Amino acid sequence: EGSLRQDLVPLDELGRGAGGCVQRALHVPSGVIVAVKKIAIDDERRRKQMVLELRALHGLKGTALAARVHHGLDTSGTTSHGSSPVGSRYVVDFFDTYVEPATNSLGLVLEFMNGGSLNDHRRRGTPVDERLLSRVAFCVLSALAYIHSRRELHRDVKPSNVLLGLRGEVKISDYGCHRHLDEESSLASTFTGTIAYMAPERIAGLGYSYPADIWSLGISLLATAVGRNPYAKHKVYWDVAHAIQNQPLPKLNPDGFSHDFRHFVDRCLQKDARQRPSATELLRHPFARAGRRVGLAPVLARLASPADRSRLATMLAALHDAKLTNPS
Ligand code: ATP
Ligand code: MG
Repeated sequence: EGSLRQDLVPLDELGRGAGGCVQRALHVPSGVIVAVKKIAIDDERRRKQMVLELRALHGLKGTALAARVHHGLDTSGTTSHGSSPVGSRYVVDFFDTYVEPATNSLGLVLEFMNGGSLNDHRRRGTPVDERLLSRVAFCVLSALAYIHSRRELHRDVKPSNVLLGLRGEVKISDYGCHRHLDEESSLASTFTGTIAYMAPERIAGLGYSYPADIWSLGISLLATAVGRNPYAKHKVYWDVAHAIQNQPLPKLNPDGFSHDFRHFVDRCLQKDARQRPSATELLRHPFARAGRRVGLAPVLARLASPADRSRLATMLAALHDAKLTNPS
């Protein structure tokens, strides 16, 4: 148990959310750069339950890191799921989890995505290409089709949970991370703006199901395209909730965006959940179909900031040093 933690060398902080912080780390035996998400859970029983659930949900990918040690390095830091029975290439890989004794927190060891989140790009103010968004639509729908086929929901689709790789990968993160935090930390999500991506039926406290994830995808695409979430201008929880339920539906401006993109977003953003198409149906929409083939590496390489590039160089140097000092 303790060994996974001891095998990790923490590097820099990647970001912070409501639940805790995410750190970049080097898994020394394999030479793989990973992301470690720390979630504070004081109750020991709940912590153990979450470990079991996360392992069941994602399959035992901890073995993937171990296998890496035997099969040599893949310095790209990305994983392939060719023969893996559990998983989707559109879901951020989950390797394993460990308990941090000093802080009573869980460390979730995740695949490191070197292109940051869709939200990082939105905040940086780089105009986001429609080709990137159609790629995001295709990849997130593929992830949702997989998750929904397992009779699960994602529950937290939003731009900060769409992670990019500089080789053009787009994956959804935080699958299964919020199942327990969901109800109890609803207060926390109030302050992070998570509810600004929530479907009206969920906010109303009615039952919700797969279509709630589709709504969140629609808002995420719209918010990334126009640079802000239309509901985020309201500061108070109840104002956001009221706006989502009662204001006219947000729309993309016909001047700035293609017909296919606007039509796609309109299909996702229907107040009546039953009217929203399923992930599988939306994969046949022309906007999503266009994202199937887009080669994104050049687009993303341009999006990467100079700071990102120099951080990447530092990391590669750290990786090199670690290999020299830990020949395995
Ligand atoms: P919330 O806590 O409401 O879910 P969030 O998604 O922003 O918000 P985290 O999931 O803790 O919070 O992630 C914080 C940031 O860390 C993300 O915005 C992203 O930039 C970065 N990040 C998270 N996971 C990874 C990863 N696997 N690889 C690279 N960066 C990551
Ligand atoms: Mg997240």
